[in-house]
Amino acid sequence: MSSAEASESARIVEATPANLYIGGEWVDPIAGGSMATIDPSSGEVTAEVADAGPEDVDRAVAAAEAALRSPAWSRSRPAEREAWLRELADLLEGERDEFAALETLDNGMPIRLAERLVDRAVENLRYYAGWPTKIVGDTIEPSTPAGRDRLWAFTLREPIGVVAAVIPWNASITSATTKLAPALACGNTVILKPSENTPLTVLRLARLIDRLSLPPGVVNVLPGGPAAGRALTSHDGVRMVAFTGSTAVGQEIVRASAGNLKRVLIELGGKSPNVIFADADLERAIPSAARAIFGNSGQVCTAGSRIYAERSIHAQVVEGVAAFAERLRIGPGSDRGTQLGPVISDRQRSRILELVESAKGEGASLVTGGAAVDREDLAAGYFLQPTVFADVSSEMRVVKEEVFGPVATITPFDDVESVIAEANDTVYGLAAGVWTTNLNTAHHMTRALHAGNVWVNTYLINEASVPFGGYGMSGYGREYGYESIDQYTQIKSVWHSITEPAGPDA
Ligand code: NAD
Repeated sequence: MSSAEASESARIVEATPANLYIGGEWVDPIAGGSMATIDPSSGEVTAEVADAGPEDVDRAVAAAEAALRSPAWSRSRPAEREAWLRELADLLEGERDEFAALETLDNGMPIRLAERLVDRAVENLRYYAGWPTKIVGDTIEPSTPAGRDRLWAFTLREPIGVVAAVIPWNASITSATTKLAPALACGNTVILKPSENTPLTVLRLARLIDRLSLPPGVVNVLPGGPAAGRALTSHDGVRMVAFTGSTAVGQEIVRASAGNLKRVLIELGGKSPNVIFADADLERAIPSAARAIFGNSGQVCTAGSRIYAERSIHAQVVEGVAAFAERLRIGPGSDRGTQLGPVISDRQRSRILELVESAKGEGASLVTGGAAVDREDLAAGYFLQPTVFADVSSEMRVVKEEVFGPVATITPFDDVESVIAEANDTVYGLAAGVWTTNLNTAHHMTRALHAGNVWVNTYLINEASVPFGGYGMSGYGREYGYESIDQYTQIKSVWHSITEPAGPDA
């Protein structure tokens, strides 16, 4: 980073709050906790921010409950909620470059990817700004003997209450708005807890939220780690948890939800297959398959980590994906030329390397990569070589476990049924890709793949209008589209008994 870039980064960090945002106020944690956020490209501390404790969670829940009761929010008109969301989208768009720079500092991702993620966040807010005025119930004509003239039934779609939104570090600003926007559109109040690794963009978002005329307590932001997450997701004042993160923590959250039977929406890990048939357009399929696993250094829940290539093209796919990997420009995310940034932390890099070593030990053939990046200028960051394995078997850990790093396995297959069996041989079910020019194969695969999202002749694309979520241990519930409106509301069924209207003599 040049000295001009460094001082610009310092200015952006300086303008980003570091406290808890509760009830419309910036406050210190009661127990005084703080935590450092690290720039994964340099290993240096970017900022010290507040670390919320359980007593801060109590305060935030009380503020969110009070906001829920306040007429300013509970009686807010749909058009007002639309206006707030639109205004937030405009404010975020106005600071797009600062947000992208901050996301890159916090997460390490290439700046161009960070820009796209901020754009996605703006799109999330705009898309859900369109919903408050379109949330409707039904009128139902009862068939009871009392008859249609005596009874009337209808449904009201109401907010759930206080929503805890707990998000991971790999796409912070996008994940935050994916939950915040529909929750607010439906009239809930929200406590947003970013990951301890990447709290900065969410704190800066709170600064923008503070500029809106929203009643205090409608949105609260609690930077913090697992302890804050645990206190929040087990709190009896929280009526719904919207969680994105690892499967292990998702399971813990589901168990904790039993206390007050809160609603849970969970988006978890994946081990997604990307299947390339010999008749595919390989000029598109091979680079796309490489991007699907190396994008954001493989730290994408839908990463296409298991590539299956029909045997006649297997060697070509292995060679093509490896060549793509070797050409990637590795460097700090802030450098516009960078295509592959670091992974999030030293701990995560060690975890990934341990899985790489296990693959070597189990007999997988290492085609390229397989080690930390050995460059003096990158020595302080958490850089990893993009890695490709061939000759793997479905029993190997590298094929079974989510690596969440830039590590692909490429396996040959002989026919449709055998690749379906292999692709579905996973506890996860988040996403899958199919590459073929045969319409029948595409249809057959689309139906047979056990995954919440299937891409045909493309990969990784999604947007706010299309539902997203997992099968199996990738979670349940759906985000985006109308499905989010459904998740963030509950239905009240109402029966009205109607008596004869009074006659003129009454
Ligand atoms: P993580 O589960 O460790 O943490 C996620 C969030 O939960 C963080 O905010 C963390 O502080 C909090 N947390 C940790 N322990 C908790 C507990 N016991 N109770 C409540 N909250 C707790 O996940 P991560 O390492 O931040 O993110 C990586 C994981 O997220 C990967 O498994 C990835 O696949 C998954 N992910 C899934 C999606 C999806 O949409 N399905 C998207 C992105 C990431």
